[in-house]
Amino acid sequence: SDKKETGVIRLLDDETVNTIAAGEVIERPASVVKELVENAVDAGADTIKVDITVGLQHISSVQVSDTGCGMHISDAKMSFIRHATSKIRGPDDLARIHTMGFRGEALASIAAISRVTLTTRADDDDAGTEIVIEGGEIISVSDVSAPQGTTVRVDNIFFNTPARRKFMKSRQTELLHIYRAVEAEAFAHPESAFRLKVNGKEKLRTQRTTTIAQTIGQVFGTEMSQNIIPLSAGTPVMRVDGAIVLPEACRPNAGEIHLCVNGRPVTSPQIVRAIRAGYGTLIPKGRFPVAYLSIKIDTSLVDVNVHPAKREIRLSREKEIFRGISDAIRDTLQTTDLIHGNTPTA
Ligand code: ADP
Ligand code: MG
Repeated sequence: SDKKETGVIRLLDDETVNTIAAGEVIERPASVVKELVENAVDAGADTIKVDITVGLQHISSVQVSDTGCGMHISDAKMSFIRHATSKIRGPDDLARIHTMGFRGEALASIAAISRVTLTTRADDDDAGTEIVIEGGEIISVSDVSAPQGTTVRVDNIFFNTPARRKFMKSRQTELLHIYRAVEAEAFAHPESAFRLKVNGKEKLRTQRTTTIAQTIGQVFGTEMSQNIIPLSAGTPVMRVDGAIVLPEACRPNAGEIHLCVNGRPVTSPQIVRAIRAGYGTLIPKGRFPVAYLSIKIDTSLVDVNVHPAKREIRLSREKEIFRGISDAIRDTLQTTDLIHGNTPTA
């Protein structure tokens, strides 16, 4: 026959696969920060330090140090392999995710598009391990002395993905995204102390806290926290804790709604809508609520496997959950109204 034996389809090599996938997980330098901080959280770190260096034009390096469990040398080497994870074992585990990570993609993705230096020591090891990896290629593995925990330093972000590199916005914009990312994590994880420095200058510091009001004050600033009313409510399927502002303190601009679900910073237009619904007619026209809500939902009702960057979630019994949030807001505003005799401005 005159049929050709060879086709045109081929399997992409690992390097290509990693670079493509990295594009989904690592959108910008702030994504590197988010992924590394979440690994530190999953490692049970008491303290998480983020150090950024900024050059004339770009973020030149990102470093995250933690006091978490650290890694043995074999795990440290494994950690850069795509889909290698210690956090889940099989598909059943996807139904109940208790960790921030589970895809085993972050370190592989970051290493694919930068130069990474990982230093780590598990508490029962005498020596630590340092691995340098660039563009997905291991450059060196060595024994080093290191404190317990893990430090990941990332240089030359997007060095081999020119399109992404060109797409990076001004250093101010990228820094702003980094601040937002660290704030969101610090709010979502009051059980860890956070510290953010840029070129050695401290930009954010939080202590481990026990009350949500303390957390909000530390993360978002005290003047913000003076105009807020604490909120705490629950239904059989969810709990919501946090704070909101009185209707008269609502802002002329949107984007001051800070949400985390089960310790994961998320964006959710539906939850934002539920919050607005809770304010109802109390909210002045053209104004937007400010809210800091930490929502806990039975993990079996939350699908976090929606987006590679895990910013979005899907909820089961969502009507019930959204109603729970609206009711919590409305009840809180009503109670405050009764106590302080506030009158609605709209
Ligand atoms: P994931 O977090 O989804 O498992 P990552 O690529 O982010 O995937 O990390 C791969 C693995 O490396 C993790 O499952 C964990 O075992 C290990 N790891 C990564 N960062 C740390 C850290 N800071 N401390 C301890 N172990 C870590
Ligand atoms: Mg991770």
